[in-house]
Amino acid sequence: MTAIDTVLLKVASRCNLDCSYCYVYRMGDEGWRTQPKRMEPSVTIAVAERLAALAAAQARGFSVVFHGGEPLLIGALRFLELCRVLKKALPFDSALHLQTNGVLLTDEILSICAEYEVGISVSIDGPAAVHDRHRPDRRGGASHGRVTAAIDRLRAHPAGASLFTGVLAVVDLQANPASVYAFLKSIGAPSIDFLYRDGHHDVLPVGKASLLSTEYGEWMSQLLDVYLADPKPTRIRVLDDMLKLLLGGKGEKEGIGLNSYGILVIDTDGSVNKNDTLKSARSGDRFQTSWSVLTHDLSEVVSSREFAAYHHAQLPVAPACLACSDLRVCGGGMPAHRWSASNGFANSSVFCADQRYLIDSMRAHLARRGIAA
Ligand code: SF4
Repeated sequence: MTAIDTVLLKVASRCNLDCSYCYVYRMGDEGWRTQPKRMEPSVTIAVAERLAALAAAQARGFSVVFHGGEPLLIGALRFLELCRVLKKALPFDSALHLQTNGVLLTDEILSICAEYEVGISVSIDGPAAVHDRHRPDRRGGASHGRVTAAIDRLRAHPAGASLFTGVLAVVDLQANPASVYAFLKSIGAPSIDFLYRDGHHDVLPVGKASLLSTEYGEWMSQLLDVYLADPKPTRIRVLDDMLKLLLGGKGEKEGIGLNSYGILVIDTDGSVNKNDTLKSARSGDRFQTSWSVLTHDLSEVVSSREFAAYHHAQLPVAPACLACSDLRVCGGGMPAHRWSASNGFANSSVFCADQRYLIDSMRAHLARRGIAA
C-alpha cells in the first residue's frame, strides 16, 4: 500500500482570482465545471471518516491541505465545520494546512485557523507590479492590495506567528529576483516557496526559448546569489532542498530529488483524482477507476495497482535522467514537466538545462567555501 504523506482536499472548485498561468482553469482541462462549487457537509463527513480509517491502516497521519480553486470560497461556516470534523477524526500526528490566495482571509477565518491549528500559506508572486501582472481578480482588477492586507491581518493575529507557514510564488522571468526576494521577506514571510511556470516538451514554459535555454536556471541562480549573501535570510525551500541534496542530505519538496511522495487528491464531490498539475500536460488525465470517499475505503484506493502506477510515475525513467550525474539532486523534475505527446512522461524535465545551470551555480558557491559537492 502506498503510504500517504499529503492529502490535497479540494474544498471549493472555483476561484475568485483569474491567474493567467493557472493549471486548473487555463490549461484546457474543463473537469472543474462538473464539480460542485463547494464541498457539501455530507462529503466532508465522509472525507473525515475515510481519512481517519486510512491513517489507522497506515499507522500514521498525514498533512491535509485545503486546496481549490480557492478553498476559502467554501465559506466560513462550512470551513469551521470542516476543521472541526477533521481535527476530531484525525490522529495527533496529522496536521491541517490552508493554501489560499488570501483575498478571503478574514479575522473570522483566522480565528477558526487558530482554534484548529491550521497552518496558512499565502500565494503571492512579489511586489504589486509583479503580482498584479498575472493574478487579477475576475473583473480584471488588481488583487495585490487585498493579499498584503490579509498577510498583515495574519501577522497581527495573536496566533499569527504559529499560523503563518509561508508564501508560495510563481517565478516571473520579467521580475528582478532580488526585488522579489526582498519584497517577500519584507512582508514577514517565514518561508518562501517558488514554482516554475508550467510547461512541457510540446508547449514550452513562458519565457523559455528552447529546451537548451536556461532562463529559469539563470533567474534562480541570481536568487541563489542574493539568498546566500543575506546574513539573515528568509528560508527558500526549493533552494534549501537542492543544497541539502547536493550535500548528501534529504529533500522535502515534491519534484526535487528522488523521494517519491504519497499524495492523495480528493475533489469537491468526494472523488479521488490525480494531481491537478498533470492536467497542464494532458487534459482530462484521470484514474480509470471511479473512486469516491462516498463509496470507497481509501486503503482500497491506495493499495490498487492503478494508484501504485500513478505514484511510481513520480520517479524518473528517461535514459538521460537515469544516466545523469545530477539525478540525485534534480530528480528528473515534476511529471507534468516531462510530458510530450510522442513519448509520454518518459522524458527528462523541460527544465533540464535550467536545473543543470542552477546545480552548477550551487556547486560553484560551495566550492568558493571550500566544500566539494
Ligand atoms: S532532468 Fe536533466 S538534470 Fe534533471 S535528472 Fe534529468 S537529465 Fe539530469
